[in-house]
Amino acid sequence: MSRVWNFSAGPAALPQAVLERAQREMLDWNGSGASVMEQSHRGKRFIAMAAQAEADLRELMQIPADYAVLFLQGGATQHFAQIPMNLAGEGDSADYIVSGHWSAKAASEAKPYVRVNVAASSEAADYLKLPPHDSWQLDPNAAYVHYTPNETIHGVEFHGVPEAGAAPLVADMSSNILSEPLDVGRFGLIYAGAQKNIGPSGLVLMIIRRDLLQRAGRPMARIFRYAEHAAADSMLNTPNTWGWYVAGLTFQWLKAQGGLGAMAERNRAKAELLYRAIDGSGGYYRNPIEPSARSRMNVRFTLHDAALDAAFLQESEATGLLALKGHKALGGMRASLYNAVPPEAVEALVAFMRDFAQRHG
Ligand SMILES: *Cc1c(COP(=O)(O)O)cnc(C)c1O
Repeated sequence: MSRVWNFSAGPAALPQAVLERAQREMLDWNGSGASVMEQSHRGKRFIAMAAQAEADLRELMQIPADYAVLFLQGGATQHFAQIPMNLAGEGDSADYIVSGHWSAKAASEAKPYVRVNVAASSEAADYLKLPPHDSWQLDPNAAYVHYTPNETIHGVEFHGVPEAGAAPLVADMSSNILSEPLDVGRFGLIYAGAQKNIGPSGLVLMIIRRDLLQRAGRPMARIFRYAEHAAADSMLNTPNTWGWYVAGLTFQWLKAQGGLGAMAERNRAKAELLYRAIDGSGGYYRNPIEPSARSRMNVRFTLHDAALDAAFLQESEATGLLALKGHKALGGMRASLYNAVPPEAVEALVAFMRDFAQRHG
């Protein structure tokens, strides 16, 4: 079996060059005679690698000095709870923009720790578009405003950073981080599970404005407190050393690709190619999302007759196109086009879709 084109929503494709380098270094990392997974995070080699990964990320994302970068664990889901624990005090409220599955879950998981104000929601529109900005009921006294720039399951994406008023803007960027240049200074906190666009699961990347680390939040154990993780350089306890290492390789790979500007251009072209194939199929394939809200990362589509789904999935897999099945809650298909998915993969998918439509009329 050779490598396939992998459209998995997550854990997702990694750059082949990153996997090959990790393979080369598996038994003898950095002249140490052992794998990176087999040595202390307190050792000189690991600390140097960890610092380099952070420096590369800072350079890629142009992260200002008044932001801390944390390499955490627990998945994005754990931080749905941990963010309000850290940023909201007793009696505080926070604004949530609900635009799909993940932002709805972030809002519901926050409820034990903060008064959740759903400031806007597109649930009534089945999340086929974004909540229009002029409908947002923002509370100037909110502890923060949370939103999800790219909804991985529903396939909607905010293009541009929305104006969110005085409260710090908190963004779950699990499925779009590093996909384009970003003005980090617009945010109070950015977090992302690694397994979509960074590296293996089990690692969460967080970029947090340092003044927010001063907030008392709720009573909690030290292990949950972001200020403690920042003070310990994300080594309060044993970090996900393997995840941190692979993330560092991905950051180096992104720099070698020309950085986030180059990735943005590549990602735009990939998404455009696929949406054009869907829209130009005469109704054979359909994407239900309002065009201005379509995700560049996660492209949903249905076939004109759901009875063809099984054949589509079976034949696409046989052609070497992996993981096109849509999320079980929505059905249909989904192609995830993260950074590590090359343009050739999308070209192969589009060619298969044309061929399938011809053969199955
Ligand atoms: C995948 C995903 C999550 C969940 O991440 P876990 O690491 O599994 O907790 C949360 N938010 C978004 C936007 C996602 O894509």
